[in-house]
Amino acid sequence: MNNCVFHTPRETHVKGNDNSALQPPPSPPVVGIPRGLLYFHYQPLWATFLSQLGVTVRVSQPTERAHLETAQSLTRSDLCLPVKVFLGHVDRLKDQVDWLLVPRMISVSPDAFMCPKVLGLTDMVRNVFPKLPRLLDPKVNVKPPKPQGFAEACSWVGRHFTSSHAQLGKAWLAAQEAQAEFGQRLLTHPLDEAIRPWDGDFSQSRGQAGRKPVYRVAVIGRPYVIFDSVLSHGLLDLLKRHLVDFMTPERVPMEAKEKQSRRLPKKVYWQLGKDLVSAALFYMERPEMDGIINVSSFGCGQDSFTSALVEHYVTKYSNKPILNLVLDEHTADTGLNTRVEAFVDMMEQRRRNGGQGVNVQRDEHAEPSGTMHTPKEPKSPKMHLTIPHMGPLHLGFERVLKNLGVQITMPPRPNKEALMLGTRYSPECACLPFKLNLGNMIQALNQGATDIMVPAGFGPCRYGYYSVIQEQILRDLGYQFRMGRTDDPDSLRDMLATVKMIAGLKSKWDSYKVFFFILHRLALVDWALQRAHSLRPRELKRRTTDRALRRSLKIIEQTHRFRDLWQAKRRVRREFDAVAIDPDRPVVRVGVVGEIFMVLENYANMNVEERLGEMGVEVHRGLWLSDWLNDRFRFKPFRRNQFRRALRQAAPYLRDPSGGESVKSVGKSVHFARKGFDGIVHLMPFTCMPELVAQTILTRMASNFNIPVLTLIFDEHTSPGAVQTRLEAFVDLIKRRH
Ligand code: SF4
Repeated sequence: MNNCVFHTPRETHVKGNDNSALQPPPSPPVVGIPRGLLYFHYQPLWATFLSQLGVTVRVSQPTERAHLETAQSLTRSDLCLPVKVFLGHVDRLKDQVDWLLVPRMISVSPDAFMCPKVLGLTDMVRNVFPKLPRLLDPKVNVKPPKPQGFAEACSWVGRHFTSSHAQLGKAWLAAQEAQAEFGQRLLTHPLDEAIRPWDGDFSQSRGQAGRKPVYRVAVIGRPYVIFDSVLSHGLLDLLKRHLVDFMTPERVPMEAKEKQSRRLPKKVYWQLGKDLVSAALFYMERPEMDGIINVSSFGCGQDSFTSALVEHYVTKYSNKPILNLVLDEHTADTGLNTRVEAFVDMMEQRRRNGGQGVNVQRDEHAEPSGTMHTPKEPKSPKMHLTIPHMGPLHLGFERVLKNLGVQITMPPRPNKEALMLGTRYSPECACLPFKLNLGNMIQALNQGATDIMVPAGFGPCRYGYYSVIQEQILRDLGYQFRMGRTDDPDSLRDMLATVKMIAGLKSKWDSYKVFFFILHRLALVDWALQRAHSLRPRELKRRTTDRALRRSLKIIEQTHRFRDLWQAKRRVRREFDAVAIDPDRPVVRVGVVGEIFMVLENYANMNVEERLGEMGVEVHRGLWLSDWLNDRFRFKPFRRNQFRRALRQAAPYLRDPSGGESVKSVGKSVHFARKGFDGIVHLMPFTCMPELVAQTILTRMASNFNIPVLTLIFDEHTSPGAVQTRLEAFVDLIKRRH
């Protein structure tokens, strides 16, 4: 079956009497559109716009099971199946088209991002396929400072095919109309029927079950999963066969979704995630709905949070039955059928028990149709603070706040108990830092802390939403506490206000002094760690560097004011100068990059840097806590902004940040490769979305620079033995290459 083709005859212009008029018009350029991910959202717009310009649009054929294998083989990284299938569609299209359209979709509304993998999609396509037709990668990002929407994106694309502003304008108008019509059709038709006018002859009608549906459910899931019969394992047909009619999030009017979204403690800052959660809140209150089916892809970072929200609100604020389905390439159709059958039986049971159309039970604390989040706070107003660990961060503030009279209980350093507690109560596919943070919070609350303070943010990775899901879990466990989050940790004003509030300081100047003292303590900690990295592979006696480091960190911790820091630095230097080393010992140099928590937190990365040091490796980190802070608060004026530097270095591979530390992972790796390093170790938590983008791109970078890259992926099942073995094999390899 060939790919689906759209085209409108191009107007031919005859100028004067040259012979060219007699030539058959050149065949119109063919633009390929892969049938995956945001194709299901914006195909009408792109297909109409391009066809209006006389361009032939070729869409890849619907996914088939046979394609899954190819999709899996295209990249070694642990990308989610929808992204792999998208790459499979690119693979099937790339040799049949002149151009390939893979827009850089960053944001379509100012308060939300696309998924980090969608942010990095164009760069992944460029790096996975060495040979590609010309790539059309218009950017759509309506967020400040330089918002650019579909109009600018279409105009940029259109100028590749025509210079006529009139034609561009006409095509854009037609595209807008088509998209608006699609939006209207979505309110009354399932997506695969609504998209039909722009999807040629490939969306097969599901056909009638012959008998009238008996039940109606809301299927909450991403359209590129639900309406892809392979990714969804034919779920919608299965429901039809069980006489179950379904409604999906696209059928809920945007205003209704916005209204629901405002009821959450914090808006979901992912465009599609927001749609899913708000649609679930909408449908759970609809009496005609018999149940909710929540569909997620295994390994989907977003779903680990949005599914937790959907399950929490549906089970707590409605009595609709909910079925959670996590699908991947290993899902067995029989198993899926059994689960749907059981769910239908349950709905039947409820009906028999008169459950049909029961009004939603509201949380007695919730205001009618208002917010659904009135936390039970501790009785005592007195603050008893705790902050979950992240590497040496506590060395910066703990002693300083205690000296200012703040009652602060730090949880134990991340350990087995924190991991066990965090894993037990977290969503399965939540990332490891989330689980360790949650475990730390439980440990500290059990020690009597009542106020949790965490930095948050607005994405695009999950970190900014950690505290919302963690608070939800802790409240469901019955803890009474106050959760404080700084939603703009990049703003100095926010941080100073937080320090002033916590330490009960009188003036902004006082909080300024305290905050910058903390920052400089952390910079000194990083300086000490750097010294340790260069000494450890050369030390004559094992572990002498570690002991010097421990003493040094103690010295830094005991500083009380700025001038103590100079003296502390001299003492730390003496500590390290006392370590006996063999300066001429040959060492290999390895760069360590990755997700910030995994790089900074030794317990999480199982002391990767110490292990490498003991194997004779001089470790250079691609990101430091003090640099992360300096990029935001500029307390080291002569140190360049490391993020911007990494962005320039990453540009040949990654043009737009996809959240987290993806830019530094790629940019610093390029920097290390250019500096002739022997290898790179990339650390990431399982399912970390930005680092999966980086991992996919690093494969290309590694082969271009001929530098070995070892990606270590951590979750609660990772064993220190496995990490040690992989590091040993890696170091053997680079020493043999050296
Ligand atoms: S991680 Fe989730 S949201 Fe992102 S592309 Fe994959 S399935 Fe979609």
